[in-house]
Amino acid sequence: MSQTAVDLLQSLYGYDRFRGHQAEIIEHVRAGNSALVLMPTGGGKSLCYQIPALLRDGVGIIISPLIALMQDQVDAMQQLGVRAAFLNSSLDHSEQNRIEQQLLAGELDLLYIAPERLVQSYTLDLISRCTLALFAIDEAHCVSQWGHDFRSDYLSLSLLQERFPDVPRVALTATADVRTRSEIIERLSLVGASSFISGFDRPNIRYGIANKISAKKQLLDFLRQRKNEAGIVYCLSRKKVEDTAAWLTEQGFTALPYHAGLPGQLRQTHQKRFLREDGVIIVATIAFGMGIDKPDVRFVAHLDLPKSIEAYYQETGRAGRDGQPADAWMIYGLQDVVRLQQMVQGSEGSEQFKRAERHKLDAMLGLCEVTSCRRKVLLNYFADNAPEHCGNCDNCQIPPQTWDATEAAQKLLSTVYRSGQRFGAMHVMDILQGKETEKVLQHQHHQLSTFGIGEEIHDAQWRSLIRQLVVRGLLKVDIEGYSALQLTDLCRPVLKGEQSLFLRIEEIKAPSIKKAGSKSARKAQIPPEVQELWDELRECRKMLADEHNVPPYVIFHDATLKEMLDTLPTSDAELLTITGVGESKLEKYGADFLSVLRRFAETG
Ligand code: ADP
Ligand code: ZN
Repeated sequence: MSQTAVDLLQSLYGYDRFRGHQAEIIEHVRAGNSALVLMPTGGGKSLCYQIPALLRDGVGIIISPLIALMQDQVDAMQQLGVRAAFLNSSLDHSEQNRIEQQLLAGELDLLYIAPERLVQSYTLDLISRCTLALFAIDEAHCVSQWGHDFRSDYLSLSLLQERFPDVPRVALTATADVRTRSEIIERLSLVGASSFISGFDRPNIRYGIANKISAKKQLLDFLRQRKNEAGIVYCLSRKKVEDTAAWLTEQGFTALPYHAGLPGQLRQTHQKRFLREDGVIIVATIAFGMGIDKPDVRFVAHLDLPKSIEAYYQETGRAGRDGQPADAWMIYGLQDVVRLQQMVQGSEGSEQFKRAERHKLDAMLGLCEVTSCRRKVLLNYFADNAPEHCGNCDNCQIPPQTWDATEAAQKLLSTVYRSGQRFGAMHVMDILQGKETEKVLQHQHHQLSTFGIGEEIHDAQWRSLIRQLVVRGLLKVDIEGYSALQLTDLCRPVLKGEQSLFLRIEEIKAPSIKKAGSKSARKAQIPPEVQELWDELRECRKMLADEHNVPPYVIFHDATLKEMLDTLPTSDAELLTITGVGESKLEKYGADFLSVLRRFAETG
């Protein structure tokens, strides 16, 4: 009897049912058709090529840009009893030979290859001598020049269709706006193939964006509520990455730096520790993260603003792949806005390119400044529908208060004007607040009619007002001229009283951000009476992980261990009903976990 997709799902992976479009996609590809698959991170893309590859004759070729992660992906498949291997530059000659022999002998189900390797004529000749089940093109957005992860090797992948017209191709990605989507279809020759597009929502991620007041203190407050949880802290510069990691280490966290300027060996070690140890924080530039499929990343924190919503969504998407509550936390301030505007302005490229970049930045700033639901802004950006209130973002949980800032804006704009449009934000605030600083006295600004007319408004509020006026284009910051604030034509209606402004009230102290999905988080907490058992199950997992030299989540996910806590299985048959326990894992690890569980049942 031929095996069905559902049989495989249950016996191999230990899962009950398919999610979303999985079943449809698998059937479509199994029947020999190509497809574009768009699914949010954690949606379960891997199964969409793994299962059809197993059901079809021959080997499934998976093209992935992430050499560093291939070992873990292959390990995970081998744990399930699947015959998987990879070919990339990290193998020595004899290892490579052995894999080629296995491939030619038809002894592999899945083969992971980097794109630059695949397109070599040697490799193409090699695979043309095998029966091919399918090609899976992972991280397919890398083919898009419009996107931010462009890789030129991906452009050559159009040759797959020419060389292997009868082998189905599945392109998969988690990020693709409408334009990137059409680029993928065109460049990977998927015109006419079906697209399977899932909603982009990641309901378990709580989005929160706050005013930057004291970055370190705010980060510390955030992290203190998340002791022993794994997370990523993104910074813009290498230096800031190193400073932040060193500082967090002083504060007692296990925090490791990661950026493209560190030696490859050290980067590898840090990535590995992040994947294998519990509760490691990685502090990184955007060089870190693509393809990291660690399921239990509990937070992604941004200390600097990403330059587009695509980048933000992809980076924050690395949190909570396991579906458990997770946080996307960010702080930003005027500096960020100015720096990014400057980067766009100073970037090389055509006017058209700059306009596109500016447009993306404006959308990102819009997300930061919005006073309504953030998820709605995010989903609408990807042309996805969303309800008015998600209930799991800062603005939904604590609706921001707004104030009529029209008069304050007028005071500010006229102070900028009267002081000659030559001074930065600090000085303008000093004038408004009536501070007789040396600089104020030196320029006789205490004699301006606007001196001291804004005393009742505190610093954070002024700063936020300036930032919001810059974001809206009523003020600009002259980068060459010592960051002087200058008026633009857009401020006229406000100055004349023809337009009013309602802005968010900033709290003076750093807003406290509630813990992610507090309701479900509470449910997910371990009851004290089984805490000991929980620790033992985790210890058992860690021991097996070390023994097999794989990350703990490759043995079992947290969710699987939690289900063991809830149902307390004591036999093979009971263990097999648990999500994530398939036949291969039952055989490998069942006895170890059962002995822990039985001991608990007898004594408890
Ligand atoms: P993606 O590549 O889309 O980010 P993965 O393929 O890594 O997501 O899947 C995310 C997690 O969800 C993995 O641990 C995977 O085993 C699990 N998963 C996928 N499909 C199912 C399913 N039908 N039922 C239960 N868990 C699933
Ligand atoms: Zn919301």
